[in-house]
Formats: sequence, C-alpha cells, structure tokens
Amino acid sequence: MNKNENPDLVIVGAGAAGLMAACYAGEFGLSVLLLERKHRAGSKLLMCGNGRCNLTSDLAVDDMLAQFGDEVSPFISSAISEFSSADLQKWFKDNRVPVMRTNDGKVFPASERASDVVHCFTDKLRSAGVSLCLNTPVERIEKLDGVVKVITTNFSVNARKVLITTGGVSYPKTGSVGDGQRFSKELGHKVAPFRPGLVGIAWESKWLSDNFSARFEKSVVNIFDGEKKIGETCGLVECERWGLGGGAVLNATRILSRKNVRQPVVEIIIKGERTPIRIDNLRTRPLKEAMVTVGGVVMDEVNPETMESIVVPGIYYAGEVLDIDGPTGGFNLTAAFATARLAVKAIAADAGLKPVKKISSSQEKRDKWKKRQQKSSDHRSLRTKTKNSRKKLSYTEEKRQHWSKRKNYK
Ligand SMILES: Cc1cc2nc3c(=O)[nH]c(=O)nc-3n(C[C@H](O)[C@H](O)[C@H](O)COP(=O)(O)OP(=O)(O)OC[C@H]3O[C@@H](n4cnc5c(N)ncnc54)[C@H](O)[C@@H]3O)c2cc1C
Repeated sequence: MNKNENPDLVIVGAGAAGLMAACYAGEFGLSVLLLERKHRAGSKLLMCGNGRCNLTSDLAVDDMLAQFGDEVSPFISSAISEFSSADLQKWFKDNRVPVMRTNDGKVFPASERASDVVHCFTDKLRSAGVSLCLNTPVERIEKLDGVVKVITTNFSVNARKVLITTGGVSYPKTGSVGDGQRFSKELGHKVAPFRPGLVGIAWESKWLSDNFSARFEKSVVNIFDGEKKIGETCGLVECERWGLGGGAVLNATRILSRKNVRQPVVEIIIKGERTPIRIDNLRTRPLKEAMVTVGGVVMDEVNPETMESIVVPGIYYAGEVLDIDGPTGGFNLTAAFATARLAVKAIAADAGLKPVKKISSSQEKRDKWKKRQQKSSDHRSLRTKTKNSRKKLSYTEEKRQHWSKRKNYK
C-alpha cells in the first residue's frame, strides 16, 4: 500500500479475527491497513489453550452450531457454513500449520505451539503486502459523506470500509479493553452489557480445601435459575485455591451469563461422591479472568450474511466485539475466524473482486524443496572438492609416494 493512498479496508485490532481478515483480504488483492494497539499482534491467541491453541473442534457444521446454543447459532450460521471446522483445518494445513486431533475431537496445531499460529498469520501478511501498524490504538471512528474516518493516536486515515475486530473485555492486558464497543456506541449501535463467560466459580468449603488441586473427570453440572433447571454440562471439574474450575464449570458459567439467570444455582455431581455439591447464590470469578466476554455489539444490528452494520453501512464486525460467544473447545476461535472471513468476502464482493490466483502452497513447497536440494548438492560437491584439494596425506602414504617417485627416477 502506498503511504499517501487511502486503503480499501482498515481493520482495527490484530487478534484472531483481525489477522484472519487481513490475510484473506490480501488474497483478494485489497489494499489493507491493519491497526493494533499493542506492540505485537495476536497477544490473546498466544495464550489460547494454555499456549497450545485449541483452534476448533472437529465437528460438522450443524453439530458445531448446536454447541453455540439457541441465542448465538442463528447469527453465526452463515459464517460457519462458509468456513467450517474442516475448512479451517485445511486452511491451516495449506498454510504450513499441520493440525492434530485429540480423542475428544479438539484440534490443535501439531506442534502444540500457539506461536506457530501467530507466525503463520504474520508471514502471510508479509507475503500479501498487508501493512500492519503496531502500537497504534484507534481512538475514534467517524462516518462522513460515504467515507469512514479512523482516528488513531498518531494519524487519521479514510477508508471505504472499516472492519472492527477489537475483541471483548476479558484479559485486558492482551489489548482487548472494549474500545470497539465504545466506538460502536458512539456510532449509534446498541451494546449488550458485558458478563463473564467461561470463568471459574468463586467458592469456599471444607470439601474444597480437602480436595485442593484435585481433578474430577466426567462430572455433571446441573444449572438452575432458582429451582428451575435450565441446563447441564459434563466434563472436568477442578478444585482451585479460589473455587471451582475445569471445562464443565466454565461452560456452566457461560450458560448462566448468556441466559441472564437471576438466581444462579449449580449442583455438581462428582463421580464417587455420595451427595452432589450444591452452590446457592453463586458468584463467579471477575470478568477480567473470563476466557470470553458475553455481551458486546448486538447481533440484531449486524447483517449475519455480510457482517456489515445495519446502523452504519461501511462498517463491519467480526469476533468477540460482537455479542457472540461459544463453549470451551475451540469454538470461540472458530467463530472469530469464520465471521472475519465472511466480512472480507462481502467487502471484496462489494468491490467486485475475486481471490487473486496464487501459486498453490503445495507447488510453492515443491519449488522450495527443489531449490533446497539443489543448494545442498552444490554445497556437498563444493565441500568434497575443497576437502580433496586440502587432503593431508597420511605419513605412510607420503612415504609410499616418495619411494615410488624415487624408483621411477632411477
Ligand atoms: C486465557 C485464554 C485462553 C483461551 N483459549 C482459547 C482456545 O484455546 N480456543 C478458543 O477457541 N478460544 C480461546 N480463547 C478465546 C479466544 O482467545 C477469543 O475468543 C478470541 O481471541 C477472540 O478473537 P478476537 O479477534 O475477536 O479478539 P482478540 O483476540 O482479543 O483481539 C483483539 C485485538 O484488538 C486489539 N485492539 C483492541 N482495541 C484496539 C484499538 N482501539 N485499536 C487498535 N487495536 C485494538 C487488541 O489489542 C487485540 O490484539 C481463550 C481466551 C483466553 C483469555
């Protein structure tokens, strides 16, 4: 992108959604400017799955959508249908991040390193010529006469389209502090209140201290609003210093937040324990410790087929800045990637663009391999030559040659 040129697309936030969007926009040949408030891209991605990065769950589209629940799945149905778990896995494989599946269907990079995922994106951005500005917090977004103005702490830029991918509000040290929701409110959008999703339950009891650091697989968590049962989760329950964690508990707190439960109660059935654990007047750990934010830009004001704002055309959304969230198991990254791609696809279609045909990655790999082979065979023959020319003769060999020369001389 030329320094003085206005980009086709400005993307605000280089997290999971912003990075995927920028790479995909590069494939269409759109000129893109990606702005990130932190000193590096993908800070939260690096923390995902304890640094292993649970990319997705290996599920068919309908099964995947069912996991998001009735509130979220209709909104993300087009995005997930366009970029399913299978597509996601193929995309990473094609981009040199082989993946592996665990027995319970979770998908991770085969290296089990989240940094490989971030590097895959940043390498791709570099080869697509996408401009990434780090340490550049966006302060305001304005819409004037068909152009969107993005104002950062250092400069301002006009663009035809702006994609907001600033994330939720949990783990604020990673850069997601709710800026996108603030811009959206200023632009006239409604924002659903923030609640913690996928967070632990704060609890104290003798049983907990007796079982400190124990892990109970195959537990069942029954979820109630007062006396009425509203859901159930199964899986791991972990005993922590501050209360209860583990997949089954995290998924239960997400359901409580999503359904705005007024009198949250859980009943936990631990295998081998005689009586279930009942926690009335339940308190969760704080929002900043949640893995996902429930709440954000309301789904009703964004077109689910394009991710474009209905309130301010020209502005698009993807990822956790929206009021979308899923359970543990790679669902939140899947949603961030899929919504990002749907937004870019719509932006490119609006500009009449199709993906620019590139050399297939397998062709690229074959060429690189051939070059490497050639280089190493050149290197080998050079080494042999040098070695031969410098070869020091052993003492006996030297003697033998000396005597044979003398014999010939005679
Ligand atoms: C500890 C932890 C572990 C997790 N593990 C998993 C997992 O294994 N699998 C899974 O599916 N999900 C996981 N999640 C959830 C997942 O990380 C998020 O849902 C996902 O990262 C959301 O992507 P996003 O792009 O919408 O937001 P983010 O990844 O949060 O990215 C938002 C980006 O926008 C930038 N930004 C914010 N404001 C501005 C501004 N004003 N100007 C410029 N830039 C700005 C931020 O700095 C940030 O880089 C985990 C979350 C946490 C906290």
